Amino acid sequence: MRTDIPIPILVILTMFGALGLGVVVVLYGTILRNRWGINLEPVSCPRCGTLPPHTREPRTVRQAMWGGWTCTTCGTEVDKWGQEIASVAPRRSAKAKEQTHISLKKKLVIISAAIYFCLTLFFDWMRPTSGGLPSTWDGILFQAGAAILETALFTALLYIALVHLARKVRNSTRGRESNQNLGQ
Ligand SMILES: [Zn+2]
Repeated sequence: MRTDIPIPILVILTMFGALGLGVVVVLYGTILRNRWGINLEPVSCPRCGTLPPHTREPRTVRQAMWGGWTCTTCGTEVDKWGQEIASVAPRRSAKAKEQTHISLKKKLVIISAAIYFCLTLFFDWMRPTSGGLPSTWDGILFQAGAAILETALFTALLYIALVHLARKVRNSTRGRESNQNLGQ
C-alpha cells in the first residue's frame, strides 16, 4: 500500500472532489428547485405575468448571488424559479417549518454525498488489488469520473429514501395530532 501521495495528485484529488460536490449540489438544487439549482425554463411574475427584463439588474445581494428579479410592473420580488419571495407571508410559521425541514434534509444529503464521494475514491485507490493510486491521467480521470457517477446515483437513492421517510414521519405525526384532537 502506498501512503506517500504526490502533490499533483493531491491537487487533482481536491479539484475533482470540489467538482463532484459542485455537480451534486447543482443537481440536487435543480431537483429541489432551491437557490443552487439551474432553471432553464422561461419564467414570469407570479402575480401579473410580466416577463423579467432582458438585462437583469440585481437590486439586492440575494438577487445578485442567487438570481431572480423585481417585477417592473408590480414590484413583486421573484426568484429564478418564478416563485414569489414572500416578505411578510401570512402562513409564515407553516412555511418556515417546511423550510427548516427542507434545509435539514438538504444538509444531510449533501454531507452524505461528500462523505460517500471521498470514501469511494479512497477505497478505490487503497484497494490492495488496484495497486494504489492510478499512475496515468486516464486512470485518474476514469476513477474520479466513476466516483462522481456513483455519488450521483447514491445521492439520488438517498434523496428518494429521505423523501419517503419524511412523508412517513409527517403522516404519523399528523395521525397522532388528529388522535389528540379527537381525545380532547
Ligand atoms: Zn408583477
